[in-house]
Amino acid sequence: MKRLPVLALLLCLCSVYFVGIYLFVGGFLLVRLEVNRTSGCGDVLQPGGEPADFCRVRPRFSRAVLLIIDALKIDFARFDPSNEAPRPHENKLPVLEETAAARPAHCRLYPFRADPPTTTMQRIKGFTTGSLPTFVDVGNNFASTAILEDNLIHQLGTVGKRVVFMGDDTWESLFPKKFHRSLPFPSFNVKDLHTVDNGILQHLYSTMIGGDWDVLVAHFLGVDHCGHRFGPDHPAMADKLTQMDGVIRSVIDRLQNDTLLVVMGDHGMTDTGDHGGDSQKETDAALFLYSPAPLFPGPPSQNEPDVVPQTDLVPTLALLLGIPIPYSSVGQVLLPLFPPHGQGAVGSLSQLEALWINRKTGKPFPGDVLRNGQRHPTREPLSAEGGLLRLSSEYLATVREGRPPSPELAASLQAYLTSVRDTCRATWARFNPLKMAAGVGHPGVCLLDVFHPV
Ligand SMILES: [Zn+2]
Repeated sequence: MKRLPVLALLLCLCSVYFVGIYLFVGGFLLVRLEVNRTSGCGDVLQPGGEPADFCRVRPRFSRAVLLIIDALKIDFARFDPSNEAPRPHENKLPVLEETAAARPAHCRLYPFRADPPTTTMQRIKGFTTGSLPTFVDVGNNFASTAILEDNLIHQLGTVGKRVVFMGDDTWESLFPKKFHRSLPFPSFNVKDLHTVDNGILQHLYSTMIGGDWDVLVAHFLGVDHCGHRFGPDHPAMADKLTQMDGVIRSVIDRLQNDTLLVVMGDHGMTDTGDHGGDSQKETDAALFLYSPAPLFPGPPSQNEPDVVPQTDLVPTLALLLGIPIPYSSVGQVLLPLFPPHGQGAVGSLSQLEALWINRKTGKPFPGDVLRNGQRHPTREPLSAEGGLLRLSSEYLATVREGRPPSPELAASLQAYLTSVRDTCRATWARFNPLKMAAGVGHPGVCLLDVFHPV
């Protein structure tokens, strides 16, 4: 050991160190190549075969309010009246379950499952592009964090919708100069529970009443910062959630019939208030959908999902607002929001139509996934081109002949969309614990070898 030249030892240590880092990063820092294509209004075929301009069809909703409450986990959104000694974070948002019980045709509360990494920037990218952002998204934007992939904000702007943003300034770096009006507030200081939220509250209600907007996005940070600073079991969290309960009530009171309200968390938090990983406490946020006009056929049915994947918000919002589904979206429309075939209200797509548009636009076509170089062992779902052609001709024939759609057709379209999402998720949104463990273990194992007195 003493005779080992110092330089050789250092080189050896460095190489061992970097191999370990390489292995760990390979398992943890997932890499994804971005698709730089944009969906258009004419991407859908009519039964006759020519492109249909579905942007011209009157959408179900002309406006939407998105309230993003950072780190709003599903546990915070539940209300249990039998709980006589609630903890600080329990039973503080009764407005959600109260409204769901009182107006079942107007709203739903779902667990809203994020894909890892459960960090705010990746989640904002996820629920605006519909894709599965990783820590390293390789695209054209090396010089900035701006999102160049197709996304909801871009599509809304293309059809002339005025998007007003207020809150977490991360949005301003992701969508520079993309908003009709933007009121960003600093998100950097996690000990600051109030600057962003109070900034929003100074403008939210006057903006809603003012009418100079079509889509209003407000991203609150207080709950997340409270988690980081104190954890969920702290009186400050009770105060923060109670404040958010009041905000949601005030927004509901000011909603018009043509407006959809979405209240959502971007991710959850652990019992210590942290997030970023793939544990259920970190992935399961809350999703609350509400409209003063009826939104659902009635109370929740057996067919409703137990959990809504976060990827599914993008295609659902796009079709409810009458814009193309962003190209990179791998999500699936939330079917309970669309009436079954033949029962659609004016301007609303039926479930089969929504699934058809979802299948035709707003997902990386199989070739794109493979062109991205992200090959996955289970290529089977993506290689079923023959099956896709059969589905297409069956759908077009159903619509042309005015036949009621077969349940099998809708099920096949759903199965296809699910397979696309699952394949992408397996490639981009799953940490590789084996590689991570190898990376952590590697330097120690090798150092033991170096210093072993042979
Ligand atoms: Zn956070």
